Amino acid sequence: MAISGPTSADSPNLIDPFGRHVTYLRVSVTDRCDFRCVYCMAENMTFLPKKDLLTLEELDRLCTAFVNKGVRKLRITGGEPLVRKNIMWLFEALSRHLKSGVLDELTLTTNGSQLSRFAKQLAACGVKRVNVSLDTLIPEKFKEITRWGNYDQVMAGIDAAREAGLHVKINAVALKDVNEHEYDDMIRWAHGLGMDLTLIEAMPMGDIDEDRSDQYLPLSVVRARLMDTWTLEDIPYKTGGPARYDEVKETGGKVGFITPMTHNFCESCNRVRITCTGTLYMCLGQDDAADLRAPLRASNSDELLSRAIDEAISRKPKGHDFIIKRGTSRPAVSRHMSVTGG
Ligand code: SAM
Ligand code: SF4
Repeated sequence: MAISGPTSADSPNLIDPFGRHVTYLRVSVTDRCDFRCVYCMAENMTFLPKKDLLTLEELDRLCTAFVNKGVRKLRITGGEPLVRKNIMWLFEALSRHLKSGVLDELTLTTNGSQLSRFAKQLAACGVKRVNVSLDTLIPEKFKEITRWGNYDQVMAGIDAAREAGLHVKINAVALKDVNEHEYDDMIRWAHGLGMDLTLIEAMPMGDIDEDRSDQYLPLSVVRARLMDTWTLEDIPYKTGGPARYDEVKETGGKVGFITPMTHNFCESCNRVRITCTGTLYMCLGQDDAADLRAPLRASNSDELLSRAIDEAISRKPKGHDFIIKRGTSRPAVSRHMSVTGG
């Protein structure tokens, strides 16, 4: 399979109209998933026809174009990235940018179901950290939330990742009445194994089968409650993402809070997202997008692609304004999180 290098079409940096440098690209490699998490998908989802998806070679070319424009961090996501056929080819291909030093980090977000199979290969490709999404430590609840997930398989996947030397961070969506009384246990468990825990506010994206106002739990409330049990110290720790971190004095571990609803994290946004069909979203919470598949397929040279990327970045909006309205099932953003990968 052919893989591309730098071209004369590459401008050195991606800087948006607000002076923010775009250095972080999240790439959704599939919209499909082996789970059906209640906040993310309806049970009966219609997925894209396979022919609409970028091939792995095209995904590599697209990522490389961004790396050549100054992107230093790539996160592979989905849907569930590890259910995409032959996905290790993409990790292997992209690992050349780690070796050459133009890329600082290649990482992924996964539900963990396939980590037992792939953890060693991921580590061999230079992946150092993985985010595993896990919302509960209670197997029955896990089934309720993920509908199709297998708890033991995910736990085995987390073990396999740790054994392969990967740093695992656990991401949990804060869900009212569902997992809201578990965070103390999750902190004990995660920190006991040397894993940080990040809590995420549920965002109104895509039609699901439930009313979102029933799910929404502000993390300001969660943090205040955690302080009844733990000594939290605000720390300046940054992973390139929007999470704000506290150190938990009793465990020495970190708890992150991603609060798109209660606190707008847009002012320091350094990221853009690509879907598995090559659509570039300049903001998670806005519908404006740019099609990169057409310029990618129009020619073997990257010139058109490069121009399309520059043009899109010049339209990156200042921020988003998510609102969850009680009694409405209409989402603020019509696409599902699984399209842009969170
Ligand atoms: N399947 C992988 C996983 O679950 O980690 C990667 C894709 S998933 C869309 C990425 C992250 O988005 C997960 O941590 C998931 O919990 C989160 N997510 C999905 N829908 C969400 C929503 N409506 N609000 C907040 N987070 C959401
Ligand atoms: Fe699948 Fe991840 Fe969405 Fe759950 S959150 S349905 S695992 S894509």
